[in-house]
Amino acid sequence: MNNPDYKNARKSASEILVLQDELSFPIDVEKITLKGKNIIFSSYKNYASKTGIDVSELSCNGMFEDAMIINHTDEVKIILYNSDIESKGRILWSKAHELGHIVLKHKQQGEKEEIEANTFASQLLLPQCLLKELVKNNLRITTDYIITKFGLSKAAAESCMKLVGKKLENNYDAYYDDIIIFKCSDFIKNETKNNIRSSYYDNDIEDERNNWLYDL
Ligand SMILES: [Zn+2]
Repeated sequence: MNNPDYKNARKSASEILVLQDELSFPIDVEKITLKGKNIIFSSYKNYASKTGIDVSELSCNGMFEDAMIINHTDEVKIILYNSDIESKGRILWSKAHELGHIVLKHKQQGEKEEIEANTFASQLLLPQCLLKELVKNNLRITTDYIITKFGLSKAAAESCMKLVGKKLENNYDAYYDDIIIFKCSDFIKNETKNNIRSSYYDNDIEDERNNWLYDL
């Protein structure tokens, strides 16, 4: 397997966040707009009933249980997802994951592509810089909080929890972080309004924060 390009996957998701008029959480993946592309979302069931194609045929007998992409043209893509899956978080993740394959222009399906699509989904649904900003503002982050606020499944939320309090990875590209934080400022304000703000200006914490953010 070629090495997954984590940096590009994350940067591509950040780029899309920056281009949206508004950012609110959980991210509504179906409302995301992409430059020069028309992405249509439909459940397998809905698509099957409208086209007369059988659901099992569409999903290749369940091989694509969660979701798949139909490439209509370069500009028009359809993301089909399984609306019968009980976990809403898993459905949301699948939509973001498939969008990742499209944005990252994946031509094949391999382990590298799967990792990149998941990295993209993770950054799209819960941008690392936002998570760090919430921590910096003394918000106590728990798995339940991530599930509730960002609509992630328990497994995905647990994986995000591993990032809490950690330095950004070496290959993290912080290019869009400031503008993402700016776009999320109302959300951050709302989430942290009950916290004691005085420590925010504490020099030690500020230094700690800078080490954490810029020690790349
Ligand atoms: Zn995939």
